[in-house]
Amino acid sequence: MSENKNNLESLNKIDLFFQLFNDMSDLVYLTKVGKDGQFSYVLANEPAQNFSGLTSKSFGKPIEEVLPEEVFHIIEEKYKQAITARESITYEDRIVVPPSYSNRLNNKYSPGQFVYWESTITPLWNQEEECTHLLAVVRDVTERKERENELKRMNDRFELVWNSTADAMYTFDRHQNFVSVNKSFINLLGWTEGEILNDWTISIIPKNSKDDLKEIIKRVKSGEVVPSHEVQRITKEGKLIDVLASYSPIYDGNGNWDGAVVVYKDISERKKYEDQLKHHALHDYLTGMPNRNFFSIMLKEEMTRAEKSKRTLAVFYLDIDKFKVINDTLGHDIGDELLKEFSRRVKACIREKDLLARIGGDEFGILITNLHDKKKSIEIAERILSSFRNNWVIEGHHLKVASSIGISFYSDPYKQDEKLLLKQADIALYKAKGNGRGNYQVY
Ligand code: GH3
Ligand code: MG
Repeated sequence: MSENKNNLESLNKIDLFFQLFNDMSDLVYLTKVGKDGQFSYVLANEPAQNFSGLTSKSFGKPIEEVLPEEVFHIIEEKYKQAITARESITYEDRIVVPPSYSNRLNNKYSPGQFVYWESTITPLWNQEEECTHLLAVVRDVTERKERENELKRMNDRFELVWNSTADAMYTFDRHQNFVSVNKSFINLLGWTEGEILNDWTISIIPKNSKDDLKEIIKRVKSGEVVPSHEVQRITKEGKLIDVLASYSPIYDGNGNWDGAVVVYKDISERKKYEDQLKHHALHDYLTGMPNRNFFSIMLKEEMTRAEKSKRTLAVFYLDIDKFKVINDTLGHDIGDELLKEFSRRVKACIREKDLLARIGGDEFGILITNLHDKKKSIEIAERILSSFRNNWVIEGHHLKVASSIGISFYSDPYKQDEKLLLKQADIALYKAKGNGRGNYQVY
């Protein structure tokens, strides 16, 4: 009686096993390894039978006889691999569904579609250490693969955009460590991706900008998108560059702040252009000397400084004598060259801290600053006049060139503004011209 009950139980267990075995969505094959090394199916669950077109008649026959030739070769190779490896092997393959197979896959796929399989083959051993059977479990991983492929496609597209944008971009995490940088960032800052992502001691923020950045991070942390603003950053070479920076917060899957994406627009070209414009606005194109504007600005500044320091300030007004004659006889180009040589000679006679400017035409101004003694400026005037007595050779032409100089001093802050100071020097110049030219006069 009890033997009967045991039999029934074990029968039920086997039934149950087969039911589960056939209900599995995985394809399961049990293959016998013959003494001669030949493989034959012992068992295959229903999905495997359906898919491979196996029937109970196929069991026991060499797989070579029951599988299409090209399939047999692949399977045989994998079986041998698992035996040699002495452990499970897992591999993935992809098939294009042949028209005759679509009904074998529960009509899930249309002919021509890709189906991805993940197969695990496990060799089974007897006590003599011989491989007697192989268990193959084949799983349809098409959905997972398609998801992965879609993700990869999206990633590839994102990468393309990330790396082809002209603006430098990077992301950082909640600890403000670099997470990713794009190609333009690498080009702009000069660090390699490996250096910037792995060396946390690297800083691209100038010391005097650290507090500003702290403020920005605070704003980003609170969810704000910080719009473009001008900042400076340091390159690997230690060069400061001007960029427009903007910050947008990043959140993790739980909605917690997780860093930011930063965009740097390189504006160093624009800055250079602005600097050039500023230079042009304040300099004379021919001689490269400061122009009238620059001279006026400096004159005002130096007057304030002179008042504070109780020292004086001299203004020289120079006008080349009979310059028109040179233009008229030798041409404007020679005149230009003479103007350049003239400014070089005068510059060589003054101190580094004094300012020479071309005020217009053949007129030049000099600011002699920080004077203890007016006599010092007279010495400078004499030095300039005597330098003119040296030979002038302009493009092979030997010339005689001189200039008249008018000098005014800043002595009365109540009456003299910068216009009057210049006017007084001009009046003195007029006097020097009247006095036979080639001399200086003090107002
Ligand atoms: P004076 O001794 O009275 O100063 O006589 P001058 O011939 O030098 O007369 P003035 O200073 O009035 O003339 C300046 C001339 O400078 C007039 C103008 O044609 C010439 N000039 C002005 N700008 C330039 C320039 O950029 N290049 C050249 N070559 N000549 C210039
Ligand atoms: Mg002149």
